[in-house]
Amino acid sequence: DAVQALLSVDRINVSYGEVQALFDVSLRVPFKSVGALIGPNGAGKSTLLKSILGVVPISTGTVTFAGEDVTRLTVPKTVRRGITLVPEGRELFAGLSVIENLELGRTVASKRSSTTDDLLDWIFQLFPVLKKRRSQVAGSLSGGEQQMAAIGRALMSEPTLLMLDEPSLGLAPVMVERIVSGIARVTEDFDMSVLMVEQNIGAAAALADRVVVMNVGRVVSERDATGEEGFDIDELTAMYWGQH
Ligand code: ATP
Repeated sequence: DAVQALLSVDRINVSYGEVQALFDVSLRVPFKSVGALIGPNGAGKSTLLKSILGVVPISTGTVTFAGEDVTRLTVPKTVRRGITLVPEGRELFAGLSVIENLELGRTVASKRSSTTDDLLDWIFQLFPVLKKRRSQVAGSLSGGEQQMAAIGRALMSEPTLLMLDEPSLGLAPVMVERIVSGIARVTEDFDMSVLMVEQNIGAAAALADRVVVMNVGRVVSERDATGEEGFDIDELTAMYWGQH
């Protein structure tokens, strides 16, 4: 690429034991972009995010982030470089309060340009319900509120790349809307890129300026999706469902 991307994944291969999950996957995440990763179940979307973070080891290929090779870094080191993941299923500590969960997101941080209190204020502005529920245990929140708390916890590390694995999964439309507008504000307010697995094509279209389609462990399409015609929902839906 003539212009360096924030994240560059180059021909990575990933296996779980005998089962290969990713085949020569390459991907670019430009600076200040929002990418939607779509594709059928088992396509390897979650595996790709986990490989970038360092949860799942990469056998061959490279991941370059902000000009540095991060292919074999441990998760805390990757987070310190500025990459974070909101995992599928949120993985909050159910017995801890909202505020305790948020503060845990600060234990490994990429930079410390804001104070913890400023970050909390910002997160409470993004998702006001979290302020109301700050002392409540996370396990007692609704699914949408838990998703907001998980996004908030990820933002506490001051990432440059926020990855999200199906943030709208199983949520009521009103909650999906709040999460979509929260993520949109994050990218407006901060110098941050987003890479999200999002099966809700409407939510993906509302946010993404790039779309990456995966199928059976491979990237089958990667392109800009800016402008009205860029994100062709009918075409993407056909591509997605047509590949089953
Ligand atoms: P989904 O939406 O169903 O999560 P996905 O596109 O995120 O799908 P992955 O979860 O990345 O797909 O799975 C890719 C492949 O790797 C699948 O064949 C899956 O069965 C396999 N796989 C995922 N996790 C593991 C694991 N921990 N051990 C063994 N195989 C796994």
